[in-house]
Amino acid sequence: MTGPVTAEAAASQLVLSIFPGADLLGRGFEAEGFCVVRGPDLLWGSDVRRFHPPCGVFAGIIGGSPCQDFSRKRRAKPSGYGDEMIFHFARCVTEAGPDWFLMKNVPGVPDVAVDGYTVQRFNLNARECGVRQNRLRTFQFGSLDGKPLVIQREMLFGAVQPCCMASEGKSTMRRTFADFCELQGLPRDFDLPGLSIAAKYAAVGNGVPVTMARVMATAIHRRGVTAWTRLCVCECGRPVRRGQTLATPACRKRMQRRRDASGRNDAGGVTIPLFQ
Ligand SMILES: [Zn+2]
Repeated sequence: MTGPVTAEAAASQLVLSIFPGADLLGRGFEAEGFCVVRGPDLLWGSDVRRFHPPCGVFAGIIGGSPCQDFSRKRRAKPSGYGDEMIFHFARCVTEAGPDWFLMKNVPGVPDVAVDGYTVQRFNLNARECGVRQNRLRTFQFGSLDGKPLVIQREMLFGAVQPCCMASEGKSTMRRTFADFCELQGLPRDFDLPGLSIAAKYAAVGNGVPVTMARVMATAIHRRGVTAWTRLCVCECGRPVRRGQTLATPACRKRMQRRRDASGRNDAGGVTIPLFQ
């Protein structure tokens, strides 16, 4: 969380949060000065499938669509619900026409494509945001102007705690709700009145740690503010030095996997021109 953000810039940033749940993602954006409007969620008795956002009102749309179908731990066949919800996320972007969107999910998620938007896809570990959880999430950032995010990673070294899973509330070994909330970046006295214990843990465990959300919100604020920057071609948002195209050995492997998967050969790479 570095860098100046002017009050005027923040005030102009109205954001719509889709599938909010307990909205840890939106809370991170609020903490960085965005004004977040929460869309419908089955948790609160309303359905995105019958929701139509107004056009031209929101600067951005954020959301962590349901990820169970895309989880590598899943043994059952995908239900189709995950794909359906991504469809509705993309539909809401099309209807609202924001400058940008951000979707959070797990690495197995399909690409989100919306006409007119350039999408930057990258993984981020909660540890790279200073969170004591080894929790990998995939973000897809789409923008009309195509300016990608520069991600400020600050790796946490040292012990991590078990990840906050949605299912923890059903376990007799569960941590206290206060400890659970704190590890997700919420205040210790955070509560969701009216929900069962299991539902409270699920709502908080399904969310992205608030600190991770703040890193994303900061990157979005700083987009276009940062002077000329060269970024890694793997889309991870890491700056690279002149003459370099890939930031880390993992970036090199990622590009290789993509080439293998697509059958294309775009080796050599190009520096993404940014922030002129
Ligand atoms: Zn990279």
